[in-house]
Amino acid sequence: MDHRVRRRAVAARLDELGVDALLVTSLVNTRYLTGFTGSNGQLLVSGDVELFLTDGRYAMSSRRVMSDIERVATRGSYRPVVVDRCRASRIARLGIEADAMTVAARDALAEAVDGSEIVPLRNVVEELRRVKDDEERELIRRAQAATDTAFAAILDRFAVGVSEQWVARELDRLMIEAGADAPSFETIVAFGENAAEPHHEPNHRTLEEGDVIKMDLGALVEGYHADMTRTIAFGQPTAELRKIHDVVRQAQQAAIDAVRPGMSGIEVDAAARSVVAEAGYGDGFVHGLGHGVGLEIHEGPWLGTTQDNVLPEGTVVTIEPGVYLDGIGGVRIEDMIEVTGDGCVVVGVSSRDMIEL
Ligand code: ZN
Ligand code: ZN
Repeated sequence: MDHRVRRRAVAARLDELGVDALLVTSLVNTRYLTGFTGSNGQLLVSGDVELFLTDGRYAMSSRRVMSDIERVATRGSYRPVVVDRCRASRIARLGIEADAMTVAARDALAEAVDGSEIVPLRNVVEELRRVKDDEERELIRRAQAATDTAFAAILDRFAVGVSEQWVARELDRLMIEAGADAPSFETIVAFGENAAEPHHEPNHRTLEEGDVIKMDLGALVEGYHADMTRTIAFGQPTAELRKIHDVVRQAQQAAIDAVRPGMSGIEVDAAARSVVAEAGYGDGFVHGLGHGVGLEIHEGPWLGTTQDNVLPEGTVVTIEPGVYLDGIGGVRIEDMIEVTGDGCVVVGVSSRDMIEL
């Protein structure tokens, strides 16, 4: 990945944002711009400044991943280093990431940079991150491949008496066996009536004949996430759950068919939501349609009834309609798609059928 190109893209936007430099304090954004994978680092970037700040633990590793950036490993606060550099480089207006700095840190910085103005900004780096480059898309595909492999492997491990927690841990193990560095998030497994909770926490509930099984899982590969949900059945599900599965699947397909670059998150959401509403289950679709996926499991662009952001070509988002009926169960089907020049492609290969085990 060419991190330098990304930093130059940030620097190129500073004029229009009305600042002389940006202090990147979000660790994910810092990683995106430098390749740094440690737990403590910040980046000051402008037309002619690229200064990385970290602590002594990462002096060696940061030299390795970003030999082309000036680096300072400090034992104390980064603030004096930032203040000195603002003065030396005549940075009069310093942009900060409003979503990644506490009010206390902002106030302390504003006091310390005597004479410079602090300008809170939002989504400067996040907007660049929405469009994935080839290497990022490849890592997401690898993460999804490990997810698909784990899903295929879990299917013959279900039996009466296994618990949600056991299945969740087994999926985690299978993803790692298939090449994941870790699970992308806490794997969700919900049996029967527990599937009525969109984000159920797996517990000791054991599997019974006729239960639906909802699994939301994803593998993590080199910082990039995957996200997939499947709803299947152990034995024969009720006619209503089978019908809901059909509706959710049609809703997902309607959204996948509708996606074009430049569409808004509201429009894509509506393509799926109208199918669910027409089937009479609109009240059961209690969340947005999807979200971007990348260095974070949930990132922009967002898909939902109020998300007017646009889906650019090259972005990766989930399409995950669901219907949940209290006390009965629920169905969600989720896939990641890559938005292409004229539509989209689904990243994964797992069957979306309501497989009856
Ligand atoms: Zn998910
Ligand atoms: Zn998701």
